[in-house]
Amino acid sequence: MQAQFTTDALMAVAKRPPQVFVSGSGSWLFDEAGMRYLDFIQGWATNCLGHAPPELARALGEQAGRLINCSPAFFNEPAAHLASLITANSCFDRVFFCNSGAEANEGAIKLARKWGGRHRAGAYEIVTFDNSFHGRTLATMSASGKPQWSRLFEPKVPGFPKAPFGDLQAVAGLIDGRTAAVMLEPVQGEAGVIPATIEFMQGLRRLTEEKGVLLIVDEIQTGMGRCGRLFDHEHAGIEPDIMTLGKGLGGGVPLAALAAREGVCCFEPGDQGGTFNGNPLMTAAGLAVMRALLEPGFLDEVARKGAYLRQRLEQLAAKHGLGEVRGRGMLLALDLATESGPLLVERARERGLLLNAPQPRLLRFMPALNVGYGELDAAVALLDGLLDESGTR
Ligand SMILES: *Cc1c(COP(=O)(O)O)cnc(C)c1O
Repeated sequence: MQAQFTTDALMAVAKRPPQVFVSGSGSWLFDEAGMRYLDFIQGWATNCLGHAPPELARALGEQAGRLINCSPAFFNEPAAHLASLITANSCFDRVFFCNSGAEANEGAIKLARKWGGRHRAGAYEIVTFDNSFHGRTLATMSASGKPQWSRLFEPKVPGFPKAPFGDLQAVAGLIDGRTAAVMLEPVQGEAGVIPATIEFMQGLRRLTEEKGVLLIVDEIQTGMGRCGRLFDHEHAGIEPDIMTLGKGLGGGVPLAALAAREGVCCFEPGDQGGTFNGNPLMTAAGLAVMRALLEPGFLDEVARKGAYLRQRLEQLAAKHGLGEVRGRGMLLALDLATESGPLLVERARERGLLLNAPQPRLLRFMPALNVGYGELDAAVALLDGLLDESGTR
């Protein structure tokens, strides 16, 4: 397939297949040749309501015709409403909006450092985890434990000692007078969809309280219903001090947020901000997404569909002698037991199914939260067929 125009002027920062996508509807994406694809990447888990959801298109259209940006120096209605919805449905008291997950995590890091400066005699370190992923700015890359990044863009931002994921003892050993916070992804996404156990989440909450440091949850991928609850940490019944959101929050448009409990909100005017932050257009999108997720029964249905997909993938794994199925809710991964991920991703795309392999031996599934059972079945059937073919295992 050949694009009808050149892509040469785009900086090469990712290996991309030749398809050029022109439209989407629900769980389906269409390329310029008219081929349709069942999309289980969904903008990298951003499109929680699928492609071109009518409620989001309506919200964006109406808001674009009313007010797009009045500057972050002034209040606007959608931002205020969305912040209130987030605080009303979580343990957090205040929200700061921004444009990407990395920016939200930068904000969380800054807030924790400011808090440490004020309340813990200048403590600034944030304990993070091996193989974690927190974004691509310098500080969030430094916070990340992605092995491929260990020598990239040196020197790193200091102050991010790392513990093995799941090892409470190791975390305890890293907390000292310099520590301001512990930060984790409740399900490590890029690392290969590795869920923190409920006990680990609860253990971290207890430990951080005992030691008097903050607990930060990076829910950029796991939040906004992805794991079957509005926020994944709810599964553990804990109340973190700071949470970051991104991806699903805008339903596909750039919107992220930093939420914190009142006692932690120590930013003063001038400490944090940004030109596009909390603009009415993006927060109107977030409001439409949040309202959809809070519709009675919506999240229960996400949990049911997640359990269904898990069960279908487990059947597939048993049939083809593959490894385990991991994750929570609609953030799932299938361990292939061999490094056939990239090949399967390519073959699946040729047949009209979009998947992602965060690690060579893993397939990740992040369909729209409103995906249909028939679409889940279709994806599993297509994969089943691919696994029957030679060379794919
Ligand atoms: C995607 C992601 C980020 C970074 O978000 P961007 O919007 O790409 O900057 C940070 N943390 C986690 C857990 C993510 O999944």
